[in-house]
Amino acid sequence: MVIHGGAGTILRSRLTPVMEKAYIDTLTIALRTGYEILQRGGSSLDAVEAAIRIMEDCPLFNAGKGAVFTANGVNELDASIMDGKTLGAGAVAAVEHVKNPISLARMVMEKSPHVMMVGSGAEEFAKTQGVKLVPPYYFWTERRWRGFEAARARADSGKTTALPGEGNHFGTVGAVALDKAGNLAAGTSTGGTEMKRYGRVGDSPIIGAGTYANNLSCAVSGTGDGEFFIRNNVAADICARVRYSGVSLQQAADDVVMKELVAQHGGGGVIAMDRTGNIATPFNTEGMYRAWVTSDGKITVRIYKD
Ligand code: ASP
Repeated sequence: MVIHGGAGTILRSRLTPVMEKAYIDTLTIALRTGYEILQRGGSSLDAVEAAIRIMEDCPLFNAGKGAVFTANGVNELDASIMDGKTLGAGAVAAVEHVKNPISLARMVMEKSPHVMMVGSGAEEFAKTQGVKLVPPYYFWTERRWRGFEAARARADSGKTTALPGEGNHFGTVGAVALDKAGNLAAGTSTGGTEMKRYGRVGDSPIIGAGTYANNLSCAVSGTGDGEFFIRNNVAADICARVRYSGVSLQQAADDVVMKELVAQHGGGGVIAMDRTGNIATPFNTEGMYRAWVTSDGKITVRIYKD
């Protein structure tokens, strides 16, 4: 299993040891939770959902509790999940009152005939499934609010680009897993990009762009500049390369993330796993929170390039 907690301007010099440890601890807990499910013979879908829920509940990540603010000062959450065995998929976008969007995405997949639901319609559906909606202030965190105020001040003063490391507070979360039955699954959850316009939807809830899984090829979850991931259909493209052109997972993921996206100045990264358990975690930003566990239970956590 592999998980990520977002890619972006993550520099060693900017992360205090306390923050670094907090990220490593949460990534480890999320991964171990998923791994235990897989070890017990549980499904890759269950493992992906459980790991993502832990990161959604943690204010460090830009998903669920730690979501960034839109230009209107609210939180709009996107998530999706895909089953590599059946190609079943579920997604929600622009929800404002759902504590764990990944679980609602799974409900869309399993309890509705649809793949994607947005906004108030998705929340109406959540209520029919017994999901308790949370008030908007559940998502308020001091760190994200400060980031929002700084971004707004920059915008007001006409500075469109953030200082290095100040903007690009990515932190989207995702997971890919392969279970004992040989089934792949992928999921992604995000608050989107900071200061996004009201109603903007990124790649994370778009099947094929931010999330894709197919037992015939691979499972992918992406993070980065969503518009580029949508235009390049990143997750599905990596799987298609593996399936049709016979290149390795690493090669396919590198070609898309390190060549195609870089050529277009699209920042970000992916985590990917193929049907034999090979993994790839390329990113073209300074860092990407990422962690993986092998079938013997060995956990590796990485943040920076080295
Ligand atoms: N890809 C996400 C989006 O564009 C953001 C991120 O991964 O940081 O909404």
